Amino acid sequence: MADAGLDALLVTDRVNVRYLTGFTGSNAALLLLSGAASTEDPDTADPDTATLATDGRYTVQAAAEAPGLAVLVARVCGPALLAAGPSGPMIGRVGFDSAQVTVDAHEALAGAAPDADLVRAAGLVERLRAVKDAGEIDALRLACAAADAALAGALADGVLAPGRTERDVARELESRMRDHGAEGPSFETIVASGANAAIPHHRPTDAPLAAGDFLTMDFGALVDGYRSDLTRTVLLGPAADWQCEIYDVVDAAAAAGRAALRPGVAARDVDAAARDVVAAAGYAEAFVHGLGHGVGLVIHEAPAVATTATATLEEGMTVTVEPGIYLPGRGGVRIEDTLVVRDDGAEPLTTSQRDLLVLDGHGRRLT
Ligand code: ZN
Ligand code: ZN
Repeated sequence: MADAGLDALLVTDRVNVRYLTGFTGSNAALLLLSGAASTEDPDTADPDTATLATDGRYTVQAAAEAPGLAVLVARVCGPALLAAGPSGPMIGRVGFDSAQVTVDAHEALAGAAPDADLVRAAGLVERLRAVKDAGEIDALRLACAAADAALAGALADGVLAPGRTERDVARELESRMRDHGAEGPSFETIVASGANAAIPHHRPTDAPLAAGDFLTMDFGALVDGYRSDLTRTVLLGPAADWQCEIYDVVDAAAAAGRAALRPGVAARDVDAAARDVVAAAGYAEAFVHGLGHGVGLVIHEAPAVATTATATLEEGMTVTVEPGIYLPGRGGVRIEDTLVVRDDGAEPLTTSQRDLLVLDGHGRRLT
């Protein structure tokens, strides 16, 4: 806030409110005051003051989840916070999240504090969220372990077999993640078999799995609000040469991406490290998305790891590395892990086998 020259910051995004306060209700905003704005006498000011606003449904929950925080009860939280201020309508430079606030909401904010200077301040909290602390990484580790365990269980029980459908597999993975401590899936589970595996975000259908298919599963678990993201592609045998070839390229690209993850490295250079492997094998056009993304309270958050990315990696960031090759009409391969950027390299939080897994007609491992 000091760097941005703000006297106050209005936080209206629910996830950002949760991150800063612990409050998980569905209607909330948070007003943060710099010390100078909180009182007329800066010498006696509390250096930072915060007020949470939520409506009457959540007063008990707010006291439990964000103990000690001042709570303003209001239906329309942002304008109410600006109108109340520390002692009357806010004045001075008040930052708001211009990437989230609608034109209508902005009008309401301006009306609530006509003498305040509303300043665009997008992404301030997201920048903090990108670097995880130990407690956040613990939650992510549990979310990743639940996804790994679900896949291991599905493999052990022969779920990934011809005759089962994409929907069967999705349902099995989701219920097994719950068995391993997940509150639910961290996003809509993707299961894509055969030609569908060429569609990166294919929704599972009743299409039965068939011998000779690639089967791509992209899924994750939600634990304590934190989300894991894991993709594995297995092959329902027998394996064809083209399948082994593109799998090896994606596997090598993923390894190159993981090896490039270091503090101080530009996120776009990590994308390039993996993309170069795919391009050198002649499949540049078939790698149709960015290499990865930050993951935490939201499945896609800062920093992006893509050709257009602008972030520099820092110790404690959690990102995915997920190269893919997609051949329309034939199939595709994606391999994705969730990793923590560490000073001595990347620490994978997802640990499922990455070597090509070829399954027989009963879903048992051939390799
Ligand atoms: Zn994914
Ligand atoms: Zn992902």
